Amino acid sequence: MPNLFNPRIFVLSMRLDELPPRESFLDWYNEIVEKAGLTDKRYPIKGMNVWTPYGWKIMQSVDSLIRREFDATGHDEVNFPTLIPETEFAKEAEHIKGFGKDVFWVTHAGENELDVRLLLRPTSETAMYPMFSLWIRSHSDLPLKIYQIVSTFRYETKQTRAFIRVREIHFFESHTAHRDFEDAEKQIKEDLEILDRLMKKLCLPYLMHRRPDWDKFAGAYYSLGIDTLMEGKILQIGSIHQYRDNFSRPYDIEYEDENGEHRYVHQTTFGMSERLLGAVIGIHGDEHGLILPPAIAPYQVVIVPIPKKGHQEEVYAACRELEEELSGAGYRVHLDDRDMRPGNKYYQWEIKGVPIRIELGLRDMENGTVMLFRRDTLEKESVQRRGVAEKIAEIMQDIEKHLYVRAMKKMEGSIKEVSNLSETDPESMPEIIKASWCGKESCGIKMEEITDMNVLGTAEPEEKSQEKCLICGEKAEKYIYLSKTY
Ligand code: ZN
Repeated sequence: MPNLFNPRIFVLSMRLDELPPRESFLDWYNEIVEKAGLTDKRYPIKGMNVWTPYGWKIMQSVDSLIRREFDATGHDEVNFPTLIPETEFAKEAEHIKGFGKDVFWVTHAGENELDVRLLLRPTSETAMYPMFSLWIRSHSDLPLKIYQIVSTFRYETKQTRAFIRVREIHFFESHTAHRDFEDAEKQIKEDLEILDRLMKKLCLPYLMHRRPDWDKFAGAYYSLGIDTLMEGKILQIGSIHQYRDNFSRPYDIEYEDENGEHRYVHQTTFGMSERLLGAVIGIHGDEHGLILPPAIAPYQVVIVPIPKKGHQEEVYAACRELEEELSGAGYRVHLDDRDMRPGNKYYQWEIKGVPIRIELGLRDMENGTVMLFRRDTLEKESVQRRGVAEKIAEIMQDIEKHLYVRAMKKMEGSIKEVSNLSETDPESMPEIIKASWCGKESCGIKMEEITDMNVLGTAEPEEKSQEKCLICGEKAEKYIYLSKTY
């Protein structure tokens, strides 16, 4: 088995030419996913890609951030079976209506046709809740807070795309059960705080939308969509749902309260997926390749020796010493000592999005300096060798801030309130439209038709409008947002 994590395996088999320009965004995206060694889509099932080592390492770092957050807030990790019996799946009517067309079925075991068909989980409500009804007995069992990070399966019929639209999804889902609606609402507040901390680490700005009733999750009381802007279109990167007792009734999840009364629990879920990685690629990357936030970069620092004839050993020894020092300081650092021109190494690590590169040659050694290169700004700076570990901490913080603010400004600049939908020149249409809305479904649908966009929902927390509905002219209560979506 070759060491696929070694960049040479990927890069040598590739053309060392430029990436497509960012303006041809989807070509650029496809190419960068492949060239950076994130996934291999040649696996013979469409939409089920192989996670190759570099991509998997990044995803695992994202998962670690998620685990840290959920463990710290009293959630326990579990792992449920992949298969769900049709009988359980069919219990919540809305749910099966929403997912029915998207599931993969297992109909046979060996040569026998199964009495009860099994399906590959598209999400895990119907796998978990029969167990919840066994686990939860009394008010002292509540709240129940669990999560898992597993593959889910959806038969996508649209064009598949790495990390954005796939049929086997690397999925995070938390499920909680509470004694009443208010306690479930508190959970959603906690989810929002978790989300905010996580997104800062991934340098991803986001918008929170309460989805309209016609677009909420199958079976939910309400759904919050977590949306980000990627190249002029909205990418949903997660969702939070309030189920109230919509699932606990069909699944019979009851508890006995202090007075001996039986009550149904109230439930919430929070889901995110590998789309987080898709967003990181698409939002931060440039024409040189990926730009990884330091928190999830497999290597935060790469050291490239600048060899000089007759002084090879000195230079390499100095590089090794620096590598040990930085790794001792807690950085994920890699010394690239391959026999290859430094320029080629730069090129490869830039594609892979390593946040900081250090170049170290004889002249630097004599001057007591090193050359630092920042992937996000492409700036080079000669800094003192002494104290370089502290300097890197500073720069990494600055990279995090810079990536976040840059993406945030772009997103905020794309939102515009419009006073007329039909007369607006399509060319000058903002990427995200904010419109006064009366709250009626028919007016929302009409807005989608006129703009050829999707309703994202109302902002969370809600913003009151003093204007009139742009469709029916009646008093508008709120604003609704629309955009093109992935
Ligand atoms: Zn209206």
